[in-house]
Amino acid sequence: MSQTETPTPSNFIRNFIQEDMKSNKWGGRVITRFPPEPNGYLHIGHAKSISLNFGMAAEFGGKCNLRFDDTNPLKEEVEYVESIKEDVKWLGFDWENREFYASDYFHQLYGFAVRLIEQGDAYVDSLSPEEIRKYRGTLTEPGKESPYRDRPVTENLDLFERMRAGEFEDGAHVLRAKIDMASGNLNMRDPTIYRIRKTAHHRTGDKWVIYPMYDYTHCLSDSLEGITHSLCTLEFEDHRPLYDWVLRTLEVYHPRQIEFARLNLSFTVLSKRKLIQLVEGGYVSGWDDPRMPTIQGFRRRGFTPESIRTFCERIGVAKRDSVVDLALLEHCLREDLNKRAPRVMGVLNPLKVVITNYPEGESEELEAVNNPEDPAAGTRQVPFSRELYIERDDFMEDPPKKFFRLAPGREVRLRYAYFIKCEEVIKDEDGAVVEVRCAYDPATRGGDAPDGRKVKATLHWVSAGHAIEAEVRLYDRLFNHPNPGAGKTDFTEHVNPKSLTVLKGCKLEPSLASAEPESLHQFERLGYFCADRRDSRPGRPTFNRSVTLRDQWAKIAQKGKK
Ligand code: ATP
Ligand code: MG
Repeated sequence: MSQTETPTPSNFIRNFIQEDMKSNKWGGRVITRFPPEPNGYLHIGHAKSISLNFGMAAEFGGKCNLRFDDTNPLKEEVEYVESIKEDVKWLGFDWENREFYASDYFHQLYGFAVRLIEQGDAYVDSLSPEEIRKYRGTLTEPGKESPYRDRPVTENLDLFERMRAGEFEDGAHVLRAKIDMASGNLNMRDPTIYRIRKTAHHRTGDKWVIYPMYDYTHCLSDSLEGITHSLCTLEFEDHRPLYDWVLRTLEVYHPRQIEFARLNLSFTVLSKRKLIQLVEGGYVSGWDDPRMPTIQGFRRRGFTPESIRTFCERIGVAKRDSVVDLALLEHCLREDLNKRAPRVMGVLNPLKVVITNYPEGESEELEAVNNPEDPAAGTRQVPFSRELYIERDDFMEDPPKKFFRLAPGREVRLRYAYFIKCEEVIKDEDGAVVEVRCAYDPATRGGDAPDGRKVKATLHWVSAGHAIEAEVRLYDRLFNHPNPGAGKTDFTEHVNPKSLTVLKGCKLEPSLASAEPESLHQFERLGYFCADRRDSRPGRPTFNRSVTLRDQWAKIAQKGKK
């Protein structure tokens, strides 16, 4: 186990399922579901829920359904359905043929509602939406019963049928469960279970003008699918009594609901409402902007499904809310890419180097290791010639004491190539350095001096005549506050204005000309980079820096040990 790895993280849900398996509560079945509302793109918090639901099912030989809780035609779109499917698949999970939609149950849900009315457990209320809100009471005051609460069953049935037939306008009536207006739990104060919405639905079209409410639909959908363990986030704990009431009153199959703490991530917002604001407010270029905490954003940035799944395992599942350090997610990516990303050389801010004693017009191929962590990755040839580029930062004309890289009169190693020594500095009219002239030592080919001479720095470089040009995008955190929107501040005020730096004219080794979109590489000394899946073109790649090589999480973990 490496220094920073945590032991198997706790997951109390696993323990509950184990107990149920032992007592044979569900006849050995484990059926879970991931139930997104198709009203936005999935984010890293959803990845936690997806990993948990699919993970638990797999661990116990069960199944996990993908179910769209599509009860709100105003906010839902096919675009979201498609992106959600793509993301779950990309994360590496398979719902096989179990792609379900709450809207497929509209007919059955209507039947259940009729049954509730017949049993005297639901009524049509004709108060206005504002009145209903007022009658609802508050956390400290009980609610007030609606004057329509005791409508006879036949009148309720008639009105409900006419609501469905489209006789009334939005808001004229609602169907409410008849529970308890004095309950300490606001969800139990005769919650609305159906409302009129004369809006077409992305799947059922104009078939329905009344739509079931989320809570009513959710628990019945779980019931209809024979879900054994209905895993949801803590905010639904207060809804559980309502789910229990619905299922008990209708005497239908009753899953076990278990709530867990949602993922919160430092320097990140994870509510769809806020993510939509970032997109619509132009703070980012879209849902898949590499700075977005959406699955699409992480993917485009260069995060791998494996790193996200590892992250979800490591954070574990708890009953109490906490904030996870973004550095842990980045650490999981570095760990994954360190093992498998091929190493290459690229120069982001090029400074020209001329090797004065190298013959003009000639070049040679040098052998470079593709991945020191993976001998099977082999080697490649990189061209070397008289004119090269090095990183501007790797040269200083007047270096301070602790700067060991290239400077006048100093010798350094060019990775996989030769020792070079700086002999002359060329400047433009404004005094800016435009070129450094060096001599190389042919005896040091491959990077070592036969006389045992040492140098204090090894630089990455590319051959000027062979390099390809690329755009490289460097990202920083989207927010400059660990808890965006803390206190009274609007979260958008914590947006980091310097979260994106676009570098044009970067010089990369020629092997990258054929980089496939989404391919991942370690640019030596600079970090891990991913060819942009939208903008990268063969011969003219565009790279996103996924993460730098500095592992803050490893440092934090180390400190914790001391
Ligand atoms: P948000 O509050 O971020 O807008 P949501 O909860 O409304 O999201 P849904 O589409 O309803 O989004 O979520 C689908 C599932 O994902 C739900 O079971 C929900 O509990 C879970 N989920 C949402 N956000 C998180 C999170 N941050 N951590 C863990 N699970 C989450
Ligand atoms: Mg929700």
